[in-house]
Amino acid sequence: MTIDKNRVIIFDTTLRDGEQSPGCSMTLNEKLRVAEALEKLGVDVIEAGFAIASNGDFNAISQISALLKETVVCSLARASIKDIDRAWESLKAAKRPRIHTFISTSALHMEHKLQMSPEVVLGKIEESVAYARNLCDDVEWSCEDGTRTEEAYLYKTIETAIKAGATTINVPDTVGYTTPQEYTRMMRKIIENVPNSDKAIFSTHCHNDLGLAVANSIAAVEGGARQIECTINGIGERAGNAALEEIVMAFRTRQDVLPYKTGIVTENITKISHLVSSVTGLNVQHNKAIVGANAFAHESGIHQDGMLKNAGTYEIMTPESVGLGKSTLVMGKHSGRHAFGEKLKELGYVLGNNEFLNAFEQFKDLADAKKIVYDEDIISIVDVGMRDADGMRITSWKFVCDKDVPNSATFELLIDGEISNVHSEGNGPVDAAFLALQTLVEGEPVLELYQVHAVTKGTDAQAEVTVRLSDNGRTVNGHAAHTDTLVASAKAYLSALNKLLVKREKNKPEELTA
Ligand code: MN
Repeated sequence: MTIDKNRVIIFDTTLRDGEQSPGCSMTLNEKLRVAEALEKLGVDVIEAGFAIASNGDFNAISQISALLKETVVCSLARASIKDIDRAWESLKAAKRPRIHTFISTSALHMEHKLQMSPEVVLGKIEESVAYARNLCDDVEWSCEDGTRTEEAYLYKTIETAIKAGATTINVPDTVGYTTPQEYTRMMRKIIENVPNSDKAIFSTHCHNDLGLAVANSIAAVEGGARQIECTINGIGERAGNAALEEIVMAFRTRQDVLPYKTGIVTENITKISHLVSSVTGLNVQHNKAIVGANAFAHESGIHQDGMLKNAGTYEIMTPESVGLGKSTLVMGKHSGRHAFGEKLKELGYVLGNNEFLNAFEQFKDLADAKKIVYDEDIISIVDVGMRDADGMRITSWKFVCDKDVPNSATFELLIDGEISNVHSEGNGPVDAAFLALQTLVEGEPVLELYQVHAVTKGTDAQAEVTVRLSDNGRTVNGHAAHTDTLVASAKAYLSALNKLLVKREKNKPEELTA
């Protein structure tokens, strides 16, 4: 894969580290859709999940393995035979499988978390990597909390892993602690001091606790790493992982000082950013680099004047280079199936027959409710449409909002092919709707966040609603869009409930970090 010495492997962990972060759980259909989009984006490796964590994770990895054509599919495992067997089983259908196994190597983690001596950990590394390599030619090994590991010991663990057959060595900054200069030096010294370092590709995995994840990832590459682990929109544990789009655009924009190449089709960045934000319900902050709503907006008069004279005055990269087109037309109720299909193609969507008909039907409904349909509306239809395939679905509704009678909400739902009805009164129609839907699950999930925003301008715009629920320490986000804010609210609440049901299945292995 790396004949060119400046080719950097992009390893995406949106579906593992990203999905592991609070509120980011995705359903199976959502994961498949993100995986497909990642392949189209041109990432080299997709970490699809942690096979032993739950049946949901296992199924997702299996199906992603069967779905992808080119991309390496990677399954995570702790340093135990049981974990590795499960990871390997989940990769059965993969054209290019990779097992990723890890263990902590810092004194702090070994003593308090693992309660193992450094010698025992070395033995575990040898055993787990050799076992994995026996099953699979492509084995990645990570020294968890690598950046806080004592140097001489770190070299010994890496040498052991390579000797046992690891082909990629990842040195993660698990807690987001390192700084760019320190990390460059560390990578360089590892490669110099580990005697068999020429037999593996070195990798970086950075967290953003100090806002340095992207800078650190680039610094590691300058020190000799040739794989970067990152996520779309920088989602991930705590403050998140390094953002794929920022790293890739830094390389593309600054080839003069960062002469590194990736296989990423940058024009697909905006679309996948939107998809990931939509399926996780985690909105992108407006001033976020590359994919934030304001990233290419020039508001001040002086800047606008400069831009009109020459775009280069304030623009270091074009909106088109990340696939951000002008918000254009714009379709209406008279647009036919053909025009709709063309529009989808232009937006980069390829839908199956049923999906297409479903989306077209929704488009017609939307065009009836709203005069002008924008690109954003169509993206929202396609992204949200996929999610409706999972779990409980609302088929009909009635809201009562009246000063003189009790407010209430009534729903007809389809659950596993059966029709159900729920009803509740409440303080206003939103409260009534949430109370009615809550009766569908056991327990009382707590509403942590309820957020509404308009997809486009105009009072007839679609409302996009995010609902965050927590239940027994688990947090999930639900997301939906509709021209009627009440309907969008109910659908968002239900999508959160659907995810809560998926998440309740998860086992809790003591350690799910890396
Ligand atoms: Mn991580």
